[in-house]
Amino acid sequence: MKELILDMESYASEHNVPIIEKDSITFIMKYIKAHNIKNILEIGSAIGYSTILMAGVAPDVKVTTIERDEARYMECLKNVKRCGFENKITVVFQDALDVNLSNVTYDMIFIDAAKAQNIKFFEKFKYFLTSDGTIISDNMKFHGYVGKSSEIESKSLRSLVAKIEEYIEFLKNNKEYDTNLYDIGDGLAVSVRKNESK
Ligand code: SAM
Repeated sequence: MKELILDMESYASEHNVPIIEKDSITFIMKYIKAHNIKNILEIGSAIGYSTILMAGVAPDVKVTTIERDEARYMECLKNVKRCGFENKITVVFQDALDVNLSNVTYDMIFIDAAKAQNIKFFEKFKYFLTSDGTIISDNMKFHGYVGKSSEIESKSLRSLVAKIEEYIEFLKNNKEYDTNLYDIGDGLAVSVRKNESK
């Protein structure tokens, strides 16, 4: 397992595949353990780095992960096979916004795909979260640009960062969730659904 993780880190760096920062995945793995999370939905698998680390937290943790890029999806499948997690991880090759889920709930959803689409992912997949489940979103700092979008010269970067700033406001103002922002890695948002039956 250790060797596979190191190989995946090298592959990501050689092929310019964005993967989660170590501090962030360590935080998420601890969160999964502390909250006894069993069923996870991940939006944005890339090559399966975070997928495999989350699935490896405990023998009964299962992850469904969605990836739209074919080369990354194939690499992810290969890595899942290599660690023997075929029974724990389901990899879906599709645009997450087109995926049809039914009769399933997850106790954690990890949003780590196209950052400009975060609100869309949140609004689509929240219906598949358990009543007290958690949605975690990565890159809330976006390499230090978040909070400074008006100063960015590049139009496309400025618009992307503005979308992340909009997402953070959306989370903060969302009365159905309690959101905490963590200055870990590239910034994590942890949004816990308020259980109205409690
Ligand atoms: N979670 C991965 C990890 O930490 O190892 C990294 C994921 S990477 C930051 C984001 C991935 O999301 C990319 O591989 C990209 O192709 C994928 N992606 C972006 N938008 C998507 C969408 N709408 N549906 C499915 N995958 C998407």
